[in-house]
Amino acid sequence: MRDNPDADETAMEGVRVYGAHRATVGSIDVRRALPQRTRRTIGPWCFADHLGPASFTEREGLDVGPHPHVGLQTVTWLIEGEALHHDSLGTEQVIKPGQLNLMTAGRGVAHAEERTGRYRGTFEGIQLWIAQPDWSRGGASAFEHHHELPRVAVGDAVVTVLLGDLLDSSSPARHDSDLVGLDVDVRSTSTVPLAPSFEHGVIVLRGSVRIGEVVVTPGSLAHVPIGTAELRLEVLEPSRIMVIGGPAFEEPLVMWWNFVARRREELTAAYQSWTTRDGRFAEVTSALAPIAAPVPFWLRAGD
Ligand code: MN
Repeated sequence: MRDNPDADETAMEGVRVYGAHRATVGSIDVRRALPQRTRRTIGPWCFADHLGPASFTEREGLDVGPHPHVGLQTVTWLIEGEALHHDSLGTEQVIKPGQLNLMTAGRGVAHAEERTGRYRGTFEGIQLWIAQPDWSRGGASAFEHHHELPRVAVGDAVVTVLLGDLLDSSSPARHDSDLVGLDVDVRSTSTVPLAPSFEHGVIVLRGSVRIGEVVVTPGSLAHVPIGTAELRLEVLEPSRIMVIGGPAFEEPLVMWWNFVARRREELTAAYQSWTTRDGRFAEVTSALAPIAAPVPFWLRAGD
């Protein structure tokens, strides 16, 4: 993985920084690092929301009502607080820091993300989407909760392997294509090995680091190009970072609302299934009201 003679081992070249845009999900503010107008994907990763930090009480929290997904996996990872996941497979799962919720939509799933009703304090985390490859995106939906994940000491960092591999450690979580997802808890300047055949994204949740010539702070995304064998994190303050990556995503991708597909007609079909409740998306048991889909702009234009 590290001994590609063509990779540049010394310089962090070609790193670009993008600003995240602010959005609201449920009751809280998020920083949307992906997609960017000029950078839709990083490997198969196609969406990244840094959630919070927000202040929750027993009666106020992550209140995202039932909504559908197709063609993607959702990765939920918290660094503080807790949340409750309900889905149309019948899953009910509390998630806490250090644990991974991985939901595979395939042809269609619906879920809600709720407060647990017993937590008071800061809530912060990240939710990412992985575009499923063609062979699995029309398949069955599924849900995995991982209570424990491999942790690897790298320099002065503790790296948790959410997805894929780092050195000799592999995540037990399902992945349908080559990718990596790492949580890096770093105290002083450290170097994380990268697969040179992957492009990578760096999202800082807390703290600040310098990567080559650029400083990355919460609210921005750094893109590290293919051919980079090491990620040198020059730590400006102790930081909590997500590193995502994979081979450049070559299949055509269309995304709209909560759906990932290859052609617009597939988005229209998913929109109609959710809106007409035709049974493609099974019911979710939730105290919250389902979220209505907006009318796609390409359907409005024909009115
Ligand atoms: Mn969702």
